[in-house]
Amino acid sequence: MPNYNPQEIEPKWQKYWEKNDFYRAEDFSKKPKFYLLIEFPYLSGEGLHVGHCRSYSALDAVARKKRMEGYNVLFPIGWDAFGLPAENYAIKTGIHPEETTKKNIVNYKRQLKSLGLSFDWSREINTTDPRYYRWTQWIFLKLFEKGLAYRAEIPVNWCPSCKIGLANEEVVSGSCERCGAQVLKKVLKQWMLKITNYADRLIDDLEKVNYLEKIKTQQINWIGKSYGTEIDFKVADLNETGEEDKSSSSPSLPLRESSVIKVFTTRADTVFGVTAVVLTPEHSLIKKTVKEEQKEVVKKYIEESEKKTEFERTKLEKEKTGVFTGSYCINPANNEKVPIWVGDYVVATYGGGAVMVVPAHDQRDLEFAQKYNLPIKQVICNPNFNFDQLIKGGQAYEGEGALTNSGEFNGWPSEDAREDISKWLEKKKLGRKTVQYKLRDWVFSRQHYWGEPIPIIHCSKCGQMSVPEKDLPVELPYVEKYQPTGTGESPLSVITEWVNTKCPKCSGLAKRETDTMPNWAGSNWYYMRYCDSQNDKALADSKKLKYWLPVDWYNGGMEHTTLHLLYSRFVYKFLYDIKVALTPEPYQKRTSHGIVLAEDGRKMSKSFGNVINPDDIVKSYGADTLRIYEMFMGPFDQTISWSTQGVRGVYRFLEKVWKLTLNGAGEKSSERVIRAIHKLNKKIDEDLEAIKFNTLIAAFMEFTNFWQENKKEVSKDIIERFLILLAPMAPHISEELWHQLNQKGSVHNQKWPKCDSKLIKEKTITLIIQVNGKVRDKIEVEVDIPEEEAKKLAFSREKVQKWIGGKEVKKVIFVPGKLINIVV
Ligand SMILES: [Zn+2]
Ligand SMILES: [Zn+2]
Repeated sequence: MPNYNPQEIEPKWQKYWEKNDFYRAEDFSKKPKFYLLIEFPYLSGEGLHVGHCRSYSALDAVARKKRMEGYNVLFPIGWDAFGLPAENYAIKTGIHPEETTKKNIVNYKRQLKSLGLSFDWSREINTTDPRYYRWTQWIFLKLFEKGLAYRAEIPVNWCPSCKIGLANEEVVSGSCERCGAQVLKKVLKQWMLKITNYADRLIDDLEKVNYLEKIKTQQINWIGKSYGTEIDFKVADLNETGEEDKSSSSPSLPLRESSVIKVFTTRADTVFGVTAVVLTPEHSLIKKTVKEEQKEVVKKYIEESEKKTEFERTKLEKEKTGVFTGSYCINPANNEKVPIWVGDYVVATYGGGAVMVVPAHDQRDLEFAQKYNLPIKQVICNPNFNFDQLIKGGQAYEGEGALTNSGEFNGWPSEDAREDISKWLEKKKLGRKTVQYKLRDWVFSRQHYWGEPIPIIHCSKCGQMSVPEKDLPVELPYVEKYQPTGTGESPLSVITEWVNTKCPKCSGLAKRETDTMPNWAGSNWYYMRYCDSQNDKALADSKKLKYWLPVDWYNGGMEHTTLHLLYSRFVYKFLYDIKVALTPEPYQKRTSHGIVLAEDGRKMSKSFGNVINPDDIVKSYGADTLRIYEMFMGPFDQTISWSTQGVRGVYRFLEKVWKLTLNGAGEKSSERVIRAIHKLNKKIDEDLEAIKFNTLIAAFMEFTNFWQENKKEVSKDIIERFLILLAPMAPHISEELWHQLNQKGSVHNQKWPKCDSKLIKEKTITLIIQVNGKVRDKIEVEVDIPEEEAKKLAFSREKVQKWIGGKEVKKVIFVPGKLINIVV
């Protein structure tokens, strides 16, 4: 018998599959289609991570099984390669990112192929290929034409040392990820995408898809829709400067508008309890309201807060701070004067940048009020709580109850009062019911080199102009210098021969936009390109999109739920609105996998020296071992540490399969063997859909142990069936053994076996339990229950224990299929 030698058989079969083009998906095939998608890798110099292998192996098993079930499977792969990590790497090494990308692709391709993954390589894409990003730019132009891409001045994270703007994900607890300097805020003109226009649909349409529940919840929370009331607090005494609003031509209206603080609350029922209003440091009314004597301290406070990131400002555990402006506004509910404060825990982008402080009924407000000695005014009572005692103990009462100190609403249940006070204020034109979202418009420009140029031309006469479609792509110029400029502008801005161009409308001198897109741009729509990756006339042919979309199953990282997954749903919905996409949602099913940690439980990192390279595992144990191990290592959606011990265990399992198969088969299979293989079949069918890959592999191991103990009862047809079932998980060894058994054709072209549920049904008997020969209990068990299990069951029975009565067990007699007798 030859030894199990994965190093020899794996490359052999990989070549065979490739030569015979096994995994090509066929457009418009008569077979039912199945589009299975994994998140394409973001290229890094370090190559493939074993974390990639985890989801790729598992989903490859799904792809292979679906093909055997008769589906026309699209399982594509490509490269995500624009963006900051690639640029940083280039700056560090001095090698141009284009060179690095090329090299990385070669390496990743070699690695993926060595795992025997069944990708359709004919559809490979690369987000940095001009033929690809032409369409990323085209989508941007469409968004721009529809008013969904616009420029706005917004504060961005600014590293004063690197002299660049940073994305939120590049700011690590207030410091620059690259150099560690304290990050400041700087107002820059940025391109924005109006994802907020789609907020409702992004929530509502989750009903139409089959995502893991936690994924849906995260998206809904991220969008953060809340119903509430916007209430107008009129500023009581404006500054002189505030009243002389030079830009206003009609004096009455703008003054009213500009002297009102609009506050958003979900608890309009507590409006009579307001004892202060707090403005975000960015609020436009601060200048007009701050009193002379408070100017210095307010100015200082604002400067301090500019140094903080929004994350730091709004951290829940952070102590809330603020300063008094010296001015007051009027509570529209009771006409009381309440002080106006500035506090940096209020953010500009939510609720209009102002909050009302109700210390009695909001915990955060209470802490703020107790710190700054603001009055605490109870407006809701509940007989089950002693309000004064709560406040003394530092607890606000946030529950429901009857209104008090609330004018004509006294005695009303607070739940009803929310609605009624809203209506009442609305009638007085001092408030209105409204909806708020936490979701912000998406900052879509970066001042970096390595990204898709934004296809806009600035003309001093005509303004912002689209690059004409026929001139796409706007290619990224190849430059030697891609370092940051230090001015906050993109490195592209210094390439004058590229920047200077003609206006497409008036032909006058004009300049190209020099910002580039963020690294999410290319991944927004890549799964559409797979449907028709070579098309030069459209991002994809609409018939092909119609045939393949939506994606039937998309698996990816949980960390992408609120970024990539949400962004790409938004872009797809936009494309649906302009009739490029033909279904309202892009992905029918979404699952996610957990992270793979190092053996020491830490993140794998070069600096810790604990990185597991998939190449080494393939070299030592083979790809099948790596694949099975990663499916087996733990529940798929949970974070798990690597275990070399576990890898060895899987290798031994495959060795056992190898030996048992080649050892020769029994004449005829016994009934229980037939039942066992059908049970295994069923387990795979169920667990694969439910992403329970670990229990599925465990079932294989269980069967193999059973097989080893009962070799003579396992005939050739059962072994063949076993190999077919194993093929999606361990494609190489099953192919090799299939051929060793003199079977014709590939194991991967076999029909997936159907399990017969009649055969699975266990035949049960009533097992009699005796103690000293007397019947004391009866239990239903499988007809072929093993002796050990029967004993364990018998001893676990309460009745039996009672008759044993703590006495020493002398003997246990087991008569299979009949009885068990315990002698004490
Ligand atoms: Zn820096
Ligand atoms: Zn012009």
